[in-house]
Amino acid sequence: MPISYLGFSSGILSPFSAWVTSEIKPEDATRSSSQASYLKQALATTDITVYTHTQAKNILFDEKKRATGVLVSTQGFEYYISANKEVIVSAGVFHSPQLLMVSVGFSVSKVPNCFEPTFADKRTGIGPKAILQSYGIPVISDLPGVGQNLWDQIFFDVLSGVSTPSTGDLVGNLALQPQLLQEYIQGAKGTYGSTSGFIAFEKIPGPYRKNFAQRTATIEAPFSRRNVTISSADITDPTIINIAWLTDPTDCELMAAIFKRYR
Ligand SMILES: Cc1cc2nc3c(=O)[nH]c(=O)nc-3n(C[C@H](O)[C@H](O)[C@H](O)COP(=O)(O)OP(=O)(O)OC[C@H]3O[C@@H](n4cnc5c(N)ncnc54)[C@H](O)[C@@H]3O)c2cc1C
Repeated sequence: MPISYLGFSSGILSPFSAWVTSEIKPEDATRSSSQASYLKQALATTDITVYTHTQAKNILFDEKKRATGVLVSTQGFEYYISANKEVIVSAGVFHSPQLLMVSVGFSVSKVPNCFEPTFADKRTGIGPKAILQSYGIPVISDLPGVGQNLWDQIFFDVLSGVSTPSTGDLVGNLALQPQLLQEYIQGAKGTYGSTSGFIAFEKIPGPYRKNFAQRTATIEAPFSRRNVTISSADITDPTIINIAWLTDPTDCELMAAIFKRYR
């Protein structure tokens, strides 16, 4: 397949091959991260305050079920951060639902710059009622969808010999180095512009698709779904993750077709 010099970030995945993008800046193909690309700039241009090494333990609510702040812990020291406007939960796919489920309801007295819970014993959570109750967490809001529809892309290898050069062939070929280095230095492209190798996507050829069920023929992402749930009422305990790969027959049909294609 021809190399796409636009790369996969262009959104055009086929019929091209390309170097895999990873945590690098597209402009110069040097290492990057959320911290380098976003946080550093936000710290310089806004009045955001970052609490490092700090875990949100509970979202706090008032009697009207309004989120009013967060109970956090920094290396074992617990304190409250009150919200002027709103609490945005962005603890990722596993911990966002956990935080909702184990949260605590407080009535708060608003003192400027001070945030004192007046009755800290009212534990309440947001999520599927039966699960919360099984851990003794009273329900502030029965939302059955919290933690549900967990959906993951299964990744598996089918190994097959190819005639195209591999990353190792390119990196190990001394004669190619001037060209590869020039590609990287001048265009931030090529072998040294990627940390993850070289791949291509292939649409499963027609003969392997002809007996597919209608649902499988139109698949764009896996169908198998399950959930993430809590193992206790404590945020520091691990979540229970049910990925359920290949539990939907469509995903199995597709995987079998891919194995047949390359067997
Ligand atoms: C192996 C892998 C490969 C992936 N590949 C791709 C890809 O190629 N392309 C793509 O688009 N997406 C990819 N993803 C998905 C992508 O990484 C996620 O969709 C994205 O990172 C989600 O961002 P987020 O900010 O919602 O959560 P996250 O990036 O998970 O950030 C959540 C943050 O919250 C913190 N946190 C959790 N609990 C608490 C708490 N109680 N208190 C304080 N902080 C807390 C965590 O430490 C973390 O820093 C991949 C994911 C994985 C695991």
